[in-house]
Amino acid sequence: MNAMANSAYFDNYSPVGDFISIALCFVIIALIQSTYVARKRSFLIFSGMVLFIVIAAYADVLYHVFYLNHLHDDHTLIYLFRIIYHSSLFIVLAGYIVYIVEVQQLEVRKKKVAYILAAVGFLVTNVVDILGSIMGFGFVVRPSGNTREGFNIFILGYLYFVIIVMYYMFRYRSRLFSRVMTGFYSTMAVSFVMLAIQGIFNQSAFTTVTFVFPIIAMLYLIHASPYDISLGAVSVSSFENHIKYNYKTGKDFIIMSLYMRDFDDENSHFPAEIQALIREFSSTYFRGAVLFQLSNGHVVLVADTNKNPDFENKVNSLLNNFNKEYERFRLDYKIILGKAIDEISKRNEYVRFLRHIQHGMPENNVHFIEYDDVASFNKQKFILDELGDIYRRKDLNDPRVEVYCQPVLNIKTQKYDTAEALMRLNLPDIGMVFPDQFIPLAEENDFIHVLSLIILNKTCNMIRKLIVSGYEVKRISVNISVLELRDDDFCNDIGTVIKKSGIPDDKIAIEITESQNESDFLIMKSKINELKEHGITFYLDDFGTGYSNIERIMELPFDIIKFDRSLVIASGSDTKSEQMVGSLANMFNELQYSVLYEGVENDMDEKLCIDMSASYLQGYKYSRPVPIERLTDFFEKRDA
Ligand code: C2E
Ligand code: CA
Ligand code: CA
Repeated sequence: MNAMANSAYFDNYSPVGDFISIALCFVIIALIQSTYVARKRSFLIFSGMVLFIVIAAYADVLYHVFYLNHLHDDHTLIYLFRIIYHSSLFIVLAGYIVYIVEVQQLEVRKKKVAYILAAVGFLVTNVVDILGSIMGFGFVVRPSGNTREGFNIFILGYLYFVIIVMYYMFRYRSRLFSRVMTGFYSTMAVSFVMLAIQGIFNQSAFTTVTFVFPIIAMLYLIHASPYDISLGAVSVSSFENHIKYNYKTGKDFIIMSLYMRDFDDENSHFPAEIQALIREFSSTYFRGAVLFQLSNGHVVLVADTNKNPDFENKVNSLLNNFNKEYERFRLDYKIILGKAIDEISKRNEYVRFLRHIQHGMPENNVHFIEYDDVASFNKQKFILDELGDIYRRKDLNDPRVEVYCQPVLNIKTQKYDTAEALMRLNLPDIGMVFPDQFIPLAEENDFIHVLSLIILNKTCNMIRKLIVSGYEVKRISVNISVLELRDDDFCNDIGTVIKKSGIPDDKIAIEITESQNESDFLIMKSKINELKEHGITFYLDDFGTGYSNIERIMELPFDIIKFDRSLVIASGSDTKSEQMVGSLANMFNELQYSVLYEGVENDMDEKLCIDMSASYLQGYKYSRPVPIERLTDFFEKRDA
């Protein structure tokens, strides 16, 4: 044991550092097991690094244990564990390189260069380390039991990796959200400094620990971070917490929302270039602003008004620069800006509030929040609550749902004997609500089918009354949303309501718009066929607005094609369109469909439509939609 006193290196070793490293690694593993971390590729690399730190720490302990207890002539185990120790640490160092380029999402070509640099570093250091011991210029255990470090490849190798990691971090620093990366860089710096200090004092006990620091930073900043590090944004729930906090502490703040519809679906996200811009914009203009990602394609920047007293100027320069970028990318956007509104903050409803504004604004526009927005948002909320209530009660006579009707002129008989039923809501306090304000809401929330059944029920009852009073009613059409057809009970529900009213099935027609979706198409086909057997007539609504795939339309057994008002307008504006619409109508006629023109507003429209093979005409020229009871003004009594 005496001999060892000569070796300063061994004197300064204590297993404390290695055991701390092992313990820390187990703490990290326990933390990972009990929290949510995204299992990406970078996480795999990270886990591998943790594993190799544990191996290195054990190998270091064993290397010293075998040294202290070795038999004088056999040094194999000392060499073996020393090389395991060193190569494990080099794997971790190489891991830093692989890891950093992964997180930075470098292009494959650039990644490959980094991999080669990592592999070369790893191989050269190990080979030199082993050759040094074999050829005697490096670490050797003398027969006396003394050790000699010789040429220290470890320090050189370490430097090599540090320089490369630093290079990548610096060179591609703009690829990652700076607030997170600053934390990461400073941890790296602290561990490099600590290792250097150890070297100066000829210490080695804490070598492995210095490798654990960056690992902890990675776990906290990258894998368990609420930030999306490539965008620098935080999630919706953090957004809601932030609003709650600001409201409670009475902090005034401004909200800047950017929505880009191109990236608004489940699988898409902002491309790297746009991410970099958003990151830059959100960190450049406002002090202490926080960026949130509310959904794909939608980010919101929240900034404290007190910290940014000149926010109006800042907003202006932000918009100016945004416009310059827009010239470059030309991607559709909707921007909403404004000071926080207490009423919305209190209810923590910004997500819905912003979506509401977005819904009602045109693309490529900037909207400044004003109190009118809150009023219309509140109105929409009220309508939604009422719709929910109507849906839950399922009262087919619910007085809040009113049927209006627009009579349709039958060209052949020159009479009004059919009509279209159109829905209105009559709600307490706000009165009459038109379809554009509630049909989309009802569809999004799955309330639409109950509404349709109410309209159908009221229409059937009115038809019965009309017939009983002696009116000639050929049929009345009701509108059905494509979504409703997906329900297995659809045909049954319709059949039951008509049956209960006691009118013949053929007094009812159903209007549906075309669907582009293949599965909806098949469902539509089977449902139409089923209901047609009962004598229900089918109208294809809004022909000319959507896809208008004529081949597909002809596979569906419609009776009447409703040409949208846009086709009437187009025909009136130039002869080419007129010829086209006219020949479409002719073609449908020849195929035994009838053509109904919608939106006939004046004599000119009427003449045009009659010339273009109309069978039915509907529009303001004849009547606006009127309460269903008033159909008596249009329908004629049968000759007594
Ligand atoms: P739609 O089925 O195309 O109904 C025709 C719309 O055009 C009606 O608007 C009607 O008032 C309007 N209109 C009628 N004549 C003219 C005209 O000469 N010129 C112009 N510019 N417009 C005219 P309304 O009642 O506001 O309904 C809008 C849409 O709401 C309907 O379009 C339909 O898609 C939907 N809707 C209405 N009631 C129901 C319903 O009970 N169920 C479902 N699912 N949707 C409905
Ligand atoms: Ca319709
Ligand atoms: Ca229509």
